[in-house]
Amino acid sequence: MIRSGELYVLSSFFTIAFTTLTRLRRAKYPLAVIARMIRAGIRCRRCAYDIGCAFQGTLERSQLLGQAAHDAGIDSGVNAFHGYGHNRLCQLGHHPLYEEGFGLEDLETCERFFSWLNGVGGVVRHASHFHWVQFVDLAMRQWDKDKYSEISRFLYNNVRQASLVVAELEPLLAAFKQQTGYTDADIEGWKAAERAYLEGLRSEPEEVGLRLSYATLLGQLSDAEYVF
Ligand SMILES: [Zn+2]
Repeated sequence: MIRSGELYVLSSFFTIAFTTLTRLRRAKYPLAVIARMIRAGIRCRRCAYDIGCAFQGTLERSQLLGQAAHDAGIDSGVNAFHGYGHNRLCQLGHHPLYEEGFGLEDLETCERFFSWLNGVGGVVRHASHFHWVQFVDLAMRQWDKDKYSEISRFLYNNVRQASLVVAELEPLLAAFKQQTGYTDADIEGWKAAERAYLEGLRSEPEEVGLRLSYATLLGQLSDAEYVF
């Protein structure tokens, strides 16, 4: 539930943050970010973006950046929440759960940051503009320090969690493959098969079209016989 202090932040500081994000949703901003990444020598990176599924098409069609981004191995994916909220085809193509190399990462860093920053709302509710800006600045500096000091623990916990997941799931997967006779290639092929099936549904199957035409013609025949 949003409290009044949080509303204050939402209506003031977050106005700036959300306006920035809204602008970022316009394609020219992420295009500019990717252009900057390429100039900085960054290679082989996937950028997480709220509408990364649609933005990837924009990037590929960009006359200035499309080829350069392709050569640099930079493309666009989506964060986990977007994947669940859009559609199954988007998930199959872009969700980090199905992307090799993301591991446990859900790409929701911004959401965690905004959630943490909600705590600032109650503190600055009655503050002057100067102290409001000052406190937000202090809070963000503190965020940086906290994350930097915790980075070793963060990496350790992630590695530990990944090891536990592998230790728990590998025996289950091995037992499943033994029971069913499926191989790794079979299981990995399911994603491509499901994607091909869903893409095939975009246009009506020929058999369905023929059946509908036949039913329509039967109706027309019945009408004609009734008239004559
Ligand atoms: Zn999508």
